[in-house]
Amino acid sequence: MLNIIIFGPPGAGKGTQSEGLINKFNLTHLSTGDVFRMNIKQETPLGVLAKNYIDKGELVPDEVTIGMVKNFIIENSNESGFIFDGFPRTIAQGDALDKILAELDLSIDIVLALQVEEDELVRRLLDRGKRSGRKDDQDEETIRNRFKVYQNETEPLLSFYQNQDKLVRVAGMGSVQDIFNRLTSAIETL
Ligand code: AMP
Repeated sequence: MLNIIIFGPPGAGKGTQSEGLINKFNLTHLSTGDVFRMNIKQETPLGVLAKNYIDKGELVPDEVTIGMVKNFIIENSNESGFIFDGFPRTIAQGDALDKILAELDLSIDIVLALQVEEDELVRRLLDRGKRSGRKDDQDEETIRNRFKVYQNETEPLLSFYQNQDKLVRVAGMGSVQDIFNRLTSAIETL
């Protein structure tokens, strides 16, 4: 089993690159953002709760997010591997993920951290906001808040995975194909 975390700030290309990696390595995709958006669309209780946070660019509370991820992992643990996209986003989520996987005799193999300059991130998010209709990509203030949350809550995971010797930093600038090639070679050197 190959279990990957694709890591990076909002707009780094995690979703785009996940698509290619899923096909190449036959992975099961878990994008917590996608799951929340699907629940919002279907107006489930989880969606109603998550919407309050997502619209402001805040994180959905850990216990809610971790519970959802745990169910997903258990339901899909017979597949050939996971790619986690947008999860974990806090140290508590990182700890919980290790525990959930360990209970199933699984672990994370590699954390691919996409490096992208902030100006480029803002440009990509605003552009995506025009195309996808995502409200949290259309408002500069929400985008700025998401960067702040990323710096405060999510960036500490870089040292968390560095300490586990799992972190690989990958340049996230340039063409989608060039970035994909860099990610693929990082995985293939495992
Ligand atoms: P994303 O699609 O990954 O950009 O996520 C969109 C929004 O969903 C984030 O700004 C958060 O509000 C929420 N979200 C996604 N993943 C998580 C997570 N792991 N923990 C908490 N909130 C999350």
